[in-house]
Amino acid sequence: EHTINQIAAGEVIERPAAVVKELVENSIDAGSNAITVEIKEGGMSLIRITDNGSGIDEEDMPYVFLRHSTSKIRTAEDLLKVSSLGFRGEALSSIAAVSQVELVTKTSGTFTGIRYQIAGGDEKSLEHIGCPDGTTFIVRNLFYNTPARRKFLKSPVTEAGYISDLMERLAVSHPGIAFKFINNGQIKLHTSGNNNLKDIIYNVYGRDVTSHLLEITGKSGQTEMVGYIAKPIVSRGNRNYENYFINGRYIKSPLISKAIEEAYRPYIMLHRYPFTSVHIRIDTQLIDVNVHPAKLEIRFKNGEELYQLIYHTLKNALEGREL
Ligand code: ADP
Ligand code: MG
Repeated sequence: EHTINQIAAGEVIERPAAVVKELVENSIDAGSNAITVEIKEGGMSLIRITDNGSGIDEEDMPYVFLRHSTSKIRTAEDLLKVSSLGFRGEALSSIAAVSQVELVTKTSGTFTGIRYQIAGGDEKSLEHIGCPDGTTFIVRNLFYNTPARRKFLKSPVTEAGYISDLMERLAVSHPGIAFKFINNGQIKLHTSGNNNLKDIIYNVYGRDVTSHLLEITGKSGQTEMVGYIAKPIVSRGNRNYENYFINGRYIKSPLISKAIEEAYRPYIMLHRYPFTSVHIRIDTQLIDVNVHPAKLEIRFKNGEELYQLIYHTLKNALEGREL
């Protein structure tokens, strides 16, 4: 049974940034409005995630680390309209299979919290303790029992860089959540969570980007988009600045990238890519998020409509810009 968990773990958890992504997504799904992520040695020796969300009920504790156990999907039909970031119920089991996990959690309805320890998928202890509402996950010694996977990791600085990029995208995708990211004791990112996207963009990307922003809004049927794009001078040789979010989920989509890049094409040099922070709200029945293990890809049922919406919204903003 543990072997199966480890094999499956490889699909979801390939590096420390994947642990951070899954745990922060759980914190977001739990309704948190403040999330702190702390790492040491690129997340290899320590990852600590603290949230102020719903917490986990004591009676649910035996289940949350079981594979395919989720509180977010109850029927096959639910899978057709996923609104949470998680839904596979395999993140916690995968993480616990390849690390030493300590969990402290408390729901608002109880007086005491729970401290739970699990290592290599085996439960170590459960005790009651005093703690604030919310959940803290501590993941130690990632891949301690899977040396082959550990060997595949890059240097701590590189792994920390992946986590830092991820934290920036998470902060921008959820402007209403205050994010703090601490690397080896140093605060690297701190957003207010004041729900003002422009403030968050300033916070994350600084003045250079923020002073060249164009606000965008667009609507087509039930699908809405808002956000900011930058004037073409803020271009890059890679797509790191070209970000878009579907219902708060950071994804990669050839269709959306193409719509963005076609809109910019008359204004930008070949092989240069713009800054975008495009936030799309779309009916959950029009998308399929159950395509990719890391949930990075989405299938669209109204792809052509979406393409036109993005292309024309950006094109109009770029044509009307002050020069
Ligand atoms: P999924 O997110 O797909 O449901 P996970 O393995 O990531 O699966 O998490 C399992 C379950 O543990 C979740 O469905 C949720 O009920 C609970 N859980 C995990 N993290 C948290 C958290 N930070 N706050 C509250 N509940 C959580
Ligand atoms: Mg999850």
